[in-house]
Amino acid sequence: MNSIRELLAAAAQLPADTATDAPLLLAHTLDKDRSWLYAWPEHCPAPEQLEHYQALLRRRLHGEPLAYLTGHKEFWSLQLRVTPDTLIPRPETELLVETALALPVKSTRAQVLDLGTGSGAIALALASERPGWQLTATDISKKALALAAQNAAQHSIHNICFVCSPWFQGLEADLRCHIILSNPPYVAEDDPHLQQDGLPHEPISALTAGADGLQDLRTIIGNAPGFLQPGGWLLVEHGMDQGTAVRQLFGLAGFRRIETRQDLEYRDRITLGCYSR
Ligand code: GLN
Repeated sequence: MNSIRELLAAAAQLPADTATDAPLLLAHTLDKDRSWLYAWPEHCPAPEQLEHYQALLRRRLHGEPLAYLTGHKEFWSLQLRVTPDTLIPRPETELLVETALALPVKSTRAQVLDLGTGSGAIALALASERPGWQLTATDISKKALALAAQNAAQHSIHNICFVCSPWFQGLEADLRCHIILSNPPYVAEDDPHLQQDGLPHEPISALTAGADGLQDLRTIIGNAPGFLQPGGWLLVEHGMDQGTAVRQLFGLAGFRRIETRQDLEYRDRITLGCYSR
């Protein structure tokens, strides 16, 4: 009774999201990978493992995101620890990393700033790809920064300096970057999407930004020129319906070569621009 085969068959009857994630929760409980389950279908987990798995399954059924239950999420091939103190890194944010890596930045020791780093996903991905770059990663949340620093240590990444700061406020006034990038909160406060897809379990401060969702983007875009080298780049992630408004903000702040790019689902997802005084 309660062999892996039976547990998986029972889980397949659950609502779709939970049914899909059940094997991952079982593998996580047993501290194995998913393929192990299919190699040992007759194995019967110990009673306390069974209890733990069922508790996780119940939490998943109530909408808690998988990443908070397992405590990790993969981003840019890096296994990152995540907690409810930070947003769960999204695959579409990899576009920000990919675009930053393709910029015409000549310096091999470029200064790069990631604003609102959360779990550290963006800064860690860039730091791992460009060990010569000097990264600064900020967050207003001390808990988020501690987690990001832990993720950096886990991956033996040493070229990131973590600063507790609301956007630019806590930074050295003479910092001049080749690239500034951010995945800030950009959801409107009354967006019904906030009630779905596990978002109620994520930190609201990492998701919403004023009535139109643009409050933090305005602060970032408006202040970025003061922290950029001549010819430096700003890249921000935003909502799929914010492309026009964000390009306008870049224009007002004096950026050139302003461009919005789409994610793999053809939704406007990031905007970038170059600043030259
Ligand atoms: N893309 C996220 C979502 O709507 C929001 C992330 C953010 O606000 N930066 O699910």
